[in-house]
Amino acid sequence: MKLEVVAFDADDTLWHNETLYLDAKGRYGELLSPYQEPGKVLQILDENEYQNVSIYGYGTKSFVLSMIETAIELSGGDITGHLMREILAIGRQMLSGEVQLFEYAEQVVAELSAGHPLMLITKGDAIEQGRKIEKSGLARYFHYIEIVADKTAEVYRTILRRYGLDAAGFLMVGNSLRSDILPVLEIGGQAVYIPYEHTWIHELAVESEIAKNGYYELEHLGQLPALIEKLSRM
Ligand SMILES: [Mg+2]
Repeated sequence: MKLEVVAFDADDTLWHNETLYLDAKGRYGELLSPYQEPGKVLQILDENEYQNVSIYGYGTKSFVLSMIETAIELSGGDITGHLMREILAIGRQMLSGEVQLFEYAEQVVAELSAGHPLMLITKGDAIEQGRKIEKSGLARYFHYIEIVADKTAEVYRTILRRYGLDAAGFLMVGNSLRSDILPVLEIGGQAVYIPYEHTWIHELAVESEIAKNGYYELEHLGQLPALIEKLSRM
């Protein structure tokens, strides 16, 4: 089957994202340590984040609201303006930092763009993701760029329909089984899973959901061109 489009996830596939959250959570745990020990603080924060994603969506702004909510909860409503300012500073720093590309990211995207139309599909806040795409310097290699609220089979189907693309010729590369791999297999596309060591717990699919051998798995992006070369010849 001819590959029509090679699509990439962005966060933790082309550039670091989860490490920003890990750093932020470390600072936040310290900040709230007068109220609760850091491990417990982060556990409550995670629970609030999980609940809030369905209300506020993915992204740093949503995360900041969860940090504030957790601080109100843990301080028994006595959160100070000073603490609030510190929390806002954590979020602001996450949003204003440089985009740290993964090793091979630029090289691989540049190389593949010469042979295939590339698509970037990232989920989250449109302003935040748009800014990261711009800062990454990779936008010029992508023929299509899609920022979506979530990555479900229906969302992928809608994207393919919009551009008149056939699922069988669609290959998605990403670090999340739940968002990048399983929904793409569900609509009849192909997928390449490149696990990332810090993938957020919420992004991990239940083991039983994983289709055996339904997708390709690589250790790092640098191995992608050889796989695509092979698939193109099949
Ligand atoms: Mg990702």
